[in-house]
Amino acid sequence: MQLLEQTYNLNDIDAAASRLWSAVKQYRLITLTGDLGAGKTTLVSALGRHLQIDDAVSSPTFALVNEYTMYQEGKKYPLYHIDWYRLRNEKDAFAAGMEEYIEDAMHGRCWCIIEWPDKAHALLQRPWVAVYIGTNEDGTRTMTVNAEV
Ligand code: ADP
Ligand code: MG
Repeated sequence: MQLLEQTYNLNDIDAAASRLWSAVKQYRLITLTGDLGAGKTTLVSALGRHLQIDDAVSSPTFALVNEYTMYQEGKKYPLYHIDWYRLRNEKDAFAAGMEEYIEDAMHGRCWCIIEWPDKAHALLQRPWVAVYIGTNEDGTRTMTVNAEV
């Protein structure tokens, strides 16, 4: 089910992140797919600003998981920014404890944003939201957002 499609550049990425959050916040698990350089980390940074995260959002590629504190309707929640780029498969993801983050998300205890979800697709649990970012010829990005329910 398509929730949103929008084209944006760096000048209006904060508005794009705000629209994205409005469309997806009822879901706890969000996947982010796009080529290297598509703008995945940049989008998570913009979401971080929208969610009033204090720490600057960086790429989790070397950490696998970056934990932030976010605020939603006056309450504090962990936001896990997870990058499966360096995992090979579900076995790696399971060994790294990834199913626990997903369980927490399913129980409403946190939000998870996972880059490179296809590395361990079988670990995902419905419902989740899949965000795809593509680069256009003029350098703008188009994101397509689907709910997998
Ligand atoms: P990824 O994490 O997908 O590899 P990055 O977030 O590191 O990609 O972004 C790669 C480059 O693309 C950065 O230089 C960033 O400034 C630029 N970029 C990201 N989003 C946009 C956008 N919407 N419009 C134009 N440039 C963008
Ligand atoms: Mg990145």
